[in-house]
Amino acid sequence: MELLPLTPDGQTPVRVLTIAGTDSGGGAGIQADSRTMAMCGVHALVAVAAVTVQNSVGVSGFHEIPPQIVADQVRSVVGDIGLGAAKTGMLASSKIIDAVAAVCTEVGIGRNGQVPLVVDPVCASMHGDPLLHPEALDAVRHTLIPLATVVTPNLDEVRLITGIDVVDDTTARKAAEALHGLGAQWSLVKGGHLRTSTSSTDILFDGDRFLEFTSPRIDTGNDHGGGDTLAAAIACALANGYDVPRAVEFAKAWVTRCLAASYDLGAGHGPVSPLWRLREVRA
Ligand code: PLP
Repeated sequence: MELLPLTPDGQTPVRVLTIAGTDSGGGAGIQADSRTMAMCGVHALVAVAAVTVQNSVGVSGFHEIPPQIVADQVRSVVGDIGLGAAKTGMLASSKIIDAVAAVCTEVGIGRNGQVPLVVDPVCASMHGDPLLHPEALDAVRHTLIPLATVVTPNLDEVRLITGIDVVDDTTARKAAEALHGLGAQWSLVKGGHLRTSTSSTDILFDGDRFLEFTSPRIDTGNDHGGGDTLAAAIACALANGYDVPRAVEFAKAWVTRCLAASYDLGAGHGPVSPLWRLREVRA
């Protein structure tokens, strides 16, 4: 499969910022983002928005970082290090979303700035454990999504944000239109959780064109952190100068390979992981 170019030895690598929550089980969130970025040859910058208490079975609690500290982490790395793209994951509350949106606008991250922004509107874990206070949904809709170069909800998040229950291609396109209508430059409706199909089709929409990305469904219970891995890989490709459709194509192939390479961990769901790439790089 296609791999992103690695920076020649001694040169400063491409940088991508993740603004998200940690996962103590090392499967999803910032751990998935950082792992994906490293495997894609990208230096990960990290602004922690929340710390989750989590293992392979579920999330038993989380602690929110004060909004000002989240914003200051962003300001600190942007001013000194610079970056080619950013992504958001778990932001937990409307106060954190407001602070993140304000600092992103201030430093030029987002669809109207210099630095593209991938918004993964994380609402809950795959086990249904909440990762976002319900009061924050309006901030996701009206503050966060309007900043997105591309927004990447799964079907549960689509239902919460738009009220649309995606069951087929027609409803997926309706949802993509609704998300674009909220202000995202591109919307990506991920069909991976549609259990009816032997393949997984994602629909990308920019207000004009619908583009479809299909890959074989990989049947594994070890699919923890798949959404984060996809969004992080999109951000890595954007930072390398890809346009959004090409970045999504790259990321979809990447996450499919990662799903195929996922491994057992704990008593629950193991991580979608690109550790195979490490072997490849070392070979
Ligand atoms: N924990 C954190 C910190 C996350 O950001 C996410 C998803 O984005 C999850 C857990 C949930 O991952 P999954 O839906 O794969 O369980």
